[in-house]
Amino acid sequence: MFIIYGTKVFTKRYLKDLPDLCPDCSEQVKLLYFHQRKWFSIFWIPLFPYRNKYYKTCSRCDNLHSINKAEFIQNRESMSQIKD
Ligand SMILES: [Zn+2]
Repeated sequence: MFIIYGTKVFTKRYLKDLPDLCPDCSEQVKLLYFHQRKWFSIFWIPLFPYRNKYYKTCSRCDNLHSINKAEFIQNRESMSQIKD
């Protein structure tokens, strides 16, 4: 008998409704936020998440910044989720 295990990453994208200051290009732009959740899986079935990562990127210069959960939660109320 064998067990196939691995990981799978799911990403949710959010657009902040209000313009914000980009730390790189110093422009007032709408920032795009990402919440990546990594899941442990067995036989390609995700069982439980074990890692969360948060990012934000500028819609003008496309630079990506890793942010912490607190910053993501702080801005979460003014974001709209982008459906694919
Ligand atoms: Zn920028």
